[in-house]
Amino acid sequence: MSEIENTKTEEIGADSNFIFEAVKKDIAQNENLKEGIHTRFPPEPNGYLHIGHAKAICVDFGVAKKFNGLCNLRMDDTNPSKEDVEYVDSIKEDVKWLGFDWGERFYYASDYFDIMFENACNLIKKGLAYVCELSPEEVKKNRGDAKTPAVSPYRNRPISESLDLFLRMKNGEFPDGKMTLRAKIDLSSGNFNMRDPVIYRINHAAHHRTKNKWCIYPMYDYAHPIEDIAEGITHSLCTLEFEDHRPLYDWVVNNFDTDKKPRQIEFARLNINNTVMSKRKLRKLVEEGYVDGWDDPRLPTICGLRRRGYTPVSIRNFCDKIGVSKVISTVEYSFLEHCLRDDLNLKATRAMAVLNPIKLVITNYPEGKSEELEIENNPNDEAAGKRKITFSREVYIESDDFEEVPPKKYYRLFPGNEVRLKSAYVVKCTGCKKDENGNILEVYAKYDPDSKGGNPADGRKIRGTIHWVDVKTAVNAQVNLYDNLFLSSNPEQEEDFIKVLNPKSLEIIKNCKVESFLKNSKIGESYQFMRKGYFCPDKKSTENNLIFNRSVGLKDSFKISK
Ligand code: ATP
Ligand code: MG
Repeated sequence: MSEIENTKTEEIGADSNFIFEAVKKDIAQNENLKEGIHTRFPPEPNGYLHIGHAKAICVDFGVAKKFNGLCNLRMDDTNPSKEDVEYVDSIKEDVKWLGFDWGERFYYASDYFDIMFENACNLIKKGLAYVCELSPEEVKKNRGDAKTPAVSPYRNRPISESLDLFLRMKNGEFPDGKMTLRAKIDLSSGNFNMRDPVIYRINHAAHHRTKNKWCIYPMYDYAHPIEDIAEGITHSLCTLEFEDHRPLYDWVVNNFDTDKKPRQIEFARLNINNTVMSKRKLRKLVEEGYVDGWDDPRLPTICGLRRRGYTPVSIRNFCDKIGVSKVISTVEYSFLEHCLRDDLNLKATRAMAVLNPIKLVITNYPEGKSEELEIENNPNDEAAGKRKITFSREVYIESDDFEEVPPKKYYRLFPGNEVRLKSAYVVKCTGCKKDENGNILEVYAKYDPDSKGGNPADGRKIRGTIHWVDVKTAVNAQVNLYDNLFLSSNPEQEEDFIKVLNPKSLEIIKNCKVESFLKNSKIGESYQFMRKGYFCPDKKSTENNLIFNRSVGLKDSFKISK
């Protein structure tokens, strides 16, 4: 059951949460915090950001904003392999696009390698760290269990010996894995993270910023609190998997020579059904060509959502409404779509686009004649005004808006029936022309000249309204329709998530007919194609080769249960 399904409507988007409450309390108790709290968003630059990161961004920047504080953007690049400038640039672009500002406060964790190293030396000198020569496998084997403490035969080696070995580790005298620096905490702790955790390891790998300066690198649990201290972070917000690491975070803080005491608070990460969010899996999809890059509109990456037509507001609202809690849960993908629809419904210009065109010939409309009609740009926004559309003897309609033999409750075109051509005239179907195989070539109708704008002068009721585009002025466009990327609702849990890829997740429709003003559509704009959904120009769209992505359909499948 999802978080949303469990939550009453009025609780969704509540303007308080347990982090706000905790911070409020801290401020009340600590004079230093009255000047302002300080948070950070610390992505590892080894992939593109996804919707889960958007939640963390909203929490980190949101908490800072709530208390007039600041939020830093920090590249967590303590791990030398895998990092890439492309990722750093994309992260900045995505955070900015979501609407958050880190000001001048953009940092790299690798900026603090020197102070981390210096602090490690101090820990050794204080008898709080030692060089251990157990291999990673041996450390694992010797970690004990609930009843048995861990063991390291190197724990009581003299301080001077550890210091000497640590310097030699730094100077590159030993191969990878030969030895580590471990914090001397408690080999019998019930929390295994406290059983003398490794804080430095040897890794002869170049770093994307420090190049070959270092061949020892700090472990995350040791590095992160020091990064926070270095930046004056007061509240270090992270996801629940770090809860058991908090005692170690506090240990590092308390044994660092500082009066700063950043506090770690954990919240549940965002899980969404029907998609994958782990970077490893996203990278596989991109690198092995299952999708069209990191910004494929089917991916939950921020750039994919952007290309799909998601707006920053819709994503922020989504993050706001799912709320922040300590309960692990899965949110319905349809709730994200619901939030997009909510936003676009207010903003998107309405347009007519015929995806599967067939010609409708209005036989009593004079040949050669053309007229200009008016249509509202957005019925939800009067200020959006009206635009002109042309109408003439031949218009394109959707092929499924005509049936020679109508099924039950079919109110569109069939011989003898009347429908309204949106904002134009009422037409009455008179028949169709077919080829020798029975395929319909054209549909025929007569229009009622006294129904301009779509309403008959005599007030008779017209049940169906269909959209159309004037043949004379229509332009061609390609339309991309998307479905779930996976056939499984929980692809993260599948043994092989590639096997459950949906082969029909992308349907490309060429030769759609759209209103000519769409030639001027720009990246970042959204349109509601009447009866078809919300669409946006794809990044590859040009004036002469229009391509639109369907952002979301019109029908809302998300239901808030009360
Ligand atoms: P992955 O496991 O996909 O590689 P990660 O957690 O290692 O993701 P980071 O770059 O380290 O990715 O994440 C930066 C921040 O974003 C962290 O504070 C992390 O907790 C947060 N974050 C990542 N995924 C989610 C999620 N699904 N929901 C909420 N926060 C998340
Ligand atoms: Mg990480």
